[in-house]
Amino acid sequence: MTPADTSSLQCALADRVRAVEGRVAAACGRAGRDRDSVTLVAVSKTRASSEILAAVEAGVRHLGENRPEEADEKISLVNDGARAAGLAAPAWHMIGHVQSRKAPLVVGRYTLVHSLDSLKLGRRLARLAAQEGAVLDCLVQVNVSGEDSKGGYLVPEPDRDLPAVFLNELDRLQALPDIRLRGLMTIPPVGDSAEEARPYFRRLRQLRDRLERLFPGGDWSELSMGMTDDFEVAIEEGATLVRVGRAIFGPRTA
Ligand SMILES: *Cc1c(COP(=O)(O)O)cnc(C)c1O
Repeated sequence: MTPADTSSLQCALADRVRAVEGRVAAACGRAGRDRDSVTLVAVSKTRASSEILAAVEAGVRHLGENRPEEADEKISLVNDGARAAGLAAPAWHMIGHVQSRKAPLVVGRYTLVHSLDSLKLGRRLARLAAQEGAVLDCLVQVNVSGEDSKGGYLVPEPDRDLPAVFLNELDRLQALPDIRLRGLMTIPPVGDSAEEARPYFRRLRQLRDRLERLFPGGDWSELSMGMTDDFEVAIEEGATLVRVGRAIFGPRTA
């Protein structure tokens, strides 16, 4: 890229980051919440490291990736670029399905895994975290809509009992000393409007409230929900992490 290209990319990204920041702050205001209670995760999947670095220079501190292999080199490039620009390296969030055999690409690189969806993966992450001498924070991904195409643990309607297999699995995940469960993540069905996602976000929060009662010692404080088309509704429903891609980086071509 020429210096002119770089600076117009930086301007465009800085404008979009500012616009999304403003919308996050306004949604917090409407919901009577502190701006600090919501973390904006800029989803940088499919983006080049130059674009991601421009976002970091525009003030983005949290980045989300969904494919461990694809992200690996970008993470090093962006972290090095940030340091060279005198900025702290950003925090990386894994938001996509992780196959157990890819777990080595996650531990030590990501500050939060949003997509813990099996005991097998939990055990693998815990073993690797133990080797690194660090505890890895994870969110349990749940499928609140029952759509086949969505990942995560299937959970029933709010008025039904939670399945024993699900509770047993959470119990075992919680007992692993080298990962720390911090809350829940979900992806609602694709809808025509943000309002269509609201019942699913509410369902995730209600599930969290139930788990707080069922696992009193646990920390279920984080709710990762809301993307470009619905993050404001998610904030109104209690999201503590929103995962925003297109509103920050523009339409995805890849
Ligand atoms: C891609 C992706 C996002 C961001 O989606 P946008 O619509 O670009 O905001 C959020 N969460 C997950 C899990 C994703 O895969």
